[in-house]
This record gives sequence, structure tokens and C-alpha cells, in this order.
Amino acid sequence: MDSWKLGALELAAAVAAGKVSCRAAAADSLARIEALEPKLKALMRTCGEDALRRADALDARLARGEKLGALGGVPVVLKDNLCWEGHVASCSSKILENYRAPYTATVVERLLAADAVVVAQSNMDEFAMGSSTENSAFQTTRNPWDLARAPGGSSGGSAAAVAAGYAPLALGSDTGGSIRQPAGFCGLVGMKPTYGAVSRYGLVAFSSSLDQIGPFARSVADAALFFQTIAGHDPKDSTSAQWQPGDVLGKVRTADVRGKRFGVPKEYFIDGMEKPVEAAVRAAIAKFRELGGQLVEISLPHTGYAVAIYYIVATAECSSNLARFDGVHYGHRSKEAGDLVGLCSQTRREGFGPEVKRRIMLGTYALSSGYYDAYYLKALKVRALVKRDFDRAFEQCDYVLCPTSPTVPFKIGERADDPLAMYLSDIFTISTNLAGLPGVSVPCAMVDGLPVGMQVIGRDFDDAGVLACAAAFERTADLAGRIAPMKG
Ligand code: GLN
Repeated sequence: MDSWKLGALELAAAVAAGKVSCRAAAADSLARIEALEPKLKALMRTCGEDALRRADALDARLARGEKLGALGGVPVVLKDNLCWEGHVASCSSKILENYRAPYTATVVERLLAADAVVVAQSNMDEFAMGSSTENSAFQTTRNPWDLARAPGGSSGGSAAAVAAGYAPLALGSDTGGSIRQPAGFCGLVGMKPTYGAVSRYGLVAFSSSLDQIGPFARSVADAALFFQTIAGHDPKDSTSAQWQPGDVLGKVRTADVRGKRFGVPKEYFIDGMEKPVEAAVRAAIAKFRELGGQLVEISLPHTGYAVAIYYIVATAECSSNLARFDGVHYGHRSKEAGDLVGLCSQTRREGFGPEVKRRIMLGTYALSSGYYDAYYLKALKVRALVKRDFDRAFEQCDYVLCPTSPTVPFKIGERADDPLAMYLSDIFTISTNLAGLPGVSVPCAMVDGLPVGMQVIGRDFDDAGVLACAAAFERTADLAGRIAPMKG
């Protein structure tokens, strides 16, 4: 059986029923990777031996009559900024090229506890800074729907891996859109949970007040299953909420949007948007009325400031978070070091790529005395206004519907030399991070053979609700469960 074609729920059921062994599932996944990876470049590395050993151990438990967890035997890909004890976590950066994590992230512990099998770790924009994976220090991932195009980023490797059938599930991290934008570009479901819903313990920090870990899957139900496996309070993360996800999958299965009010923000249909993308998203939104929902026009008046605020807050936090890569504590250490200051600066000069350096400089500037009030403090104040926009909108509606990205996947190289154009590709996803809200991107159409995503945003901790809305829509569109054709 070609088990790599199955979704996570189907595969776990097939394993439980004895139709597919865990070893066969892992071997199928690894064979698929071996065949496609030279073209796709979605991965930093595979962990085949480890995966097969683990699969055998799971099969032995099945043979003893034990039942496996909810992800029993399901292959999973991890973004390379997640710690997993004994394994490299490079963040696709030279500075961490050979860094082995001394401990395991809570999300990884939870998926292993649910008996998933990690098969590979994915390529990403260096330290999750980017929207295309072109900022990886090692390679650029291709979009499996059209190999000349970008898969999105920064979790582009995870997205491409799931879309190409390497594994039915992958983890990404989303600071300003890094799960939802690549999910949209690769025809997948991708979710940024409410800030605090999923533990960040063991995620290499980019911007701590914005980062969240979340799932990629080829269907909403699979994303829900994965999300409920990793979510819920973790005492190891001080920003983790006292909250449990409950039966998200059950809510998704019985999803019903009748009587719900859906806000359509007028600021999210902008001039620079590609017309066919706008038409596709508007048509998808109209489906919610057919499903018995009510559409209301809303306004999120501070949307225009979101990208600017993000590039102050995120860069400020990253300049602080990345200060620890000093050639002493972690990873790369320059051989040309002179004194201690020389060691630190030469290590950073050699270890960080241009985008990471740009962000550290921007952030250090925004935090420096004299500019702190003018930039950082002001950005925090406007961030509060962005959140207030949503609070007010949610007095008029239960969910917000909008595009995930203004364009179809762009060509590789097209925006690489223009950071501002690249930054603008996250214009519809960033506000959600600033406000801490849950957002999911669900495939809503194909335009010229390329996927287009629609975003559903909800109130704090209504993560199950946004997934349920996405599921209700998914049933009306024939877009779930597809494996990308590797065209081009
Ligand atoms: N593309 C945005 C950036 O470059 C968002 C990245 C992310 O969510 N990690 O910062």
C-alpha cells in the first residue's frame, strides 16, 4: 500500500487495524523523500534510522496487543527550530549548523507521546526570518505545485514536505505568518494557535511575544488532531495559558456555521492584491452565506500599521533573543578570534546571513536610548490599537474571513533582493500575531494551477472554532487531501 498518500487520521486508523505496519509507513515516507528531495529541497536532514527503529518499537507494542496513541505510526516532519534531544536544530543557520539540542521541546515530547514517528527536519528561512525559504543558509525549497515558485516561508520546508506527501503532518512556527502563508502557497491547512495555547518550550526564539508553534496538514481534521495533541498548558513555558484544548476534532467533525456572524474586513482587500486571488477569496467567503452564516462588513482601521509595527517589535525582540549566539554558549565559534569581543563579533559576522544581520541591526536601533520611545514604545502602543480593532470587530462578528496572502506563490528570486516587497507578503497574517489571536489558512481555490488560501481568524482561545469554520468550508470545496504534482 502507498501509505504516504494517506492523511494522518486514515493512516493511524490503518495502523490500528493492522492494515499498515508502522515500519511500512515510515519506510514509505522515507522512500518518497528519497525520490523527491533532490528536486524539492524541503529538508535539512532525514532521520531514517531513528524513524525505523522507533517504528519497529511501535510495531512490537502492537504485536503485544497494546493500543497506540492518537498519532500511532504517523510520520511527522519538524521545523528545524524545534529542539529534539540529541538531534541537530540548526534554524537553517550556519551559526547553529552543528548544534545538537540537549533537551526536547514540549510539542515534540507530546507528539512522541502520541506515538508519531519523526522522519525529518525541514528547511526554513534562517531563524524563521523570511517568507520564501530563500533566507536559508543552505538551500531554497521549491513549491511542489510549481517548482519554479517559492513554497512561502519561513516554514516553507514543512509546507512543501506535507504537500509533496513526505508526511501527512508537519510542525511549523508562525511569528508573522510563517505557517499560514506557506500553507496557503502549498494548498494546505496551516494554523497559528492563540498565543499561549501551545507551549514554546524548546522552540528557538525569534520574537517571543509573537512566536507560536502550529500544525500543517492536508485536511482540517488532521490539523485539528495534531493541534489537540500538542496544545494545552505547559509549566515549562511561562507564557503558556492555563487552558486545555478539549475535543477539537469532535468540534471539527460536527462543524456548523449556521447563525454565525462572519466579519469581512474592508482593509483586507487592497490595491496591490492580485485580482484572481481577490475574486477567489471573495467567492469562498460568499460560501459562508450559503452555509447559513451571516456576512457583515467590518473595519480594522489600524491594519495599515501592522507591517511597520511588526518590523519594530519582531526585530527588537530578535536583537535581544539572538544575542546569545556569541561564539561561547552555542554553535559556531570563529577560528579567527582575537580577544573576547573579537570572538563574538567575528563569530556573528561568519555565522549569520544578511537578513538576520539586517533584523538585528534594525532591532538594536529601535531599542537604543533616544529611539526607544520614538520607535519601540510607539510600536507597542499601536500594537494595542490593533488588538482593540479586533476586540471591537468581535462585538459585531464571531469570526473574521480574509485572504491569507495578496498573491499566488511568487517565483523564486522574484523578491529576494527587495526586502520590502518580501515583508509585504505577510500583510494579512501579521495582525493576528500582534493581537495574539488564532488564525487558520484553508485552501479555497486554485488559480492557474496554483493554490490560494483563505484565512479564518477567531477570538482568543477559540482555536477549535476557527478550525470548525475552516472544516465547514472545506466540505464545500474539493481541495482537501491533495498531494502536489511536483510540476516544473
Ligand atoms: N515573514 C515574516 C518575517 O519575515 C514572518 C516570519 C515568521 O512568521 N516566522 O518575519
